[in-house]
Amino acid sequence: MKIGLIDVDSKIPNLALMKISSFYKSLGEQVEFVRDNVKYEKIYASAIFTRSKDECEKLIAMYGDKIEIGGTGWSLQKELPEEIEKMKPDYDLYSIEEIASRMKGIGTKGHKYKKAAEIVNAGIGFTSRGCIRNCGFCFVPKKEGLFRSVAEIKDLINPKSKVLILHDNNLTADPYCIDKLHEIRDRGLIVDINQGCDVRLVNDDIAKALSEVKHLRSIHYAWDLMGYENQVMDGIKTLSKYIKPYRHMCFMLVGFNTSFDEDMYRFKKLVEMKVDPFVMIYNQLPDTKLKHFARWVNSRIYKKCRFEEYGPWIKEQNGQLELKLFR
Ligand code: SF4
Repeated sequence: MKIGLIDVDSKIPNLALMKISSFYKSLGEQVEFVRDNVKYEKIYASAIFTRSKDECEKLIAMYGDKIEIGGTGWSLQKELPEEIEKMKPDYDLYSIEEIASRMKGIGTKGHKYKKAAEIVNAGIGFTSRGCIRNCGFCFVPKKEGLFRSVAEIKDLINPKSKVLILHDNNLTADPYCIDKLHEIRDRGLIVDINQGCDVRLVNDDIAKALSEVKHLRSIHYAWDLMGYENQVMDGIKTLSKYIKPYRHMCFMLVGFNTSFDEDMYRFKKLVEMKVDPFVMIYNQLPDTKLKHFARWVNSRIYKKCRFEEYGPWIKEQNGQLELKLFR
């Protein structure tokens, strides 16, 4: 039997597809990414982002009953069957070329391939699922439910590399957070805490443990709602005692339930704290002001000019004014 896989939109290796691949290979089946003019008995696709819905509809029109689609971009209900969920990922599924082709804006080709090799060889997975919180904009509570342990750090290591991409939704809420960080440190792993830390829960012990591990990239967390200002500020101050703030990145959700003034306020507060802000637009809302704001912040243009002086935003406003006059 030939099994086809389609990774609709992942930037890094897709864990679900890697587990499906392991499962079918363990049954002696042939598994590969779908190629043109090849017949497959069954096709599995995974979509992470909701913007991929149209692409998924096209796949269903093309493959009919043969295809099964999962991932948060398509369905919050669909889960891997237990016998597949418990498989180790197939670390041979993705090639460096495949991952490099999905990377945008990473500098030279050589740099891109180096980064892709690092990712392809990395250990990847979750030691916990679910979350202790229930943020209204987040799919995790709906899809995964309450926080629970599912694996240990040692289960996720890829023997090919020291890099570990940890997908845990809320590592800092884990009662074993410090033990896990110590294990990462003691094994000499380089970790990417991919979903970020819940900075509101960072105390001195967690901050110290975080500072003792090697991080693949800046340590990141989020400030999404105005009501959490004090807790976020306290967490950043504690973390900054152990990890210099220029090594932090704070994601800011905009377009969910904050006004533009509140977005600007959070941005300024973070810059004052010397933390790198990164704007995420809720559900990719088609709001031109927020799009310009996100570009101005995320491309660090704010270091050169104020938002009111940002050319593309001025042009946009003039265009809107002209349209109004014309009408
Ligand atoms: S803390 Fe993070 S993972 Fe948990 S519900 Fe909120 S946004 Fe989702």
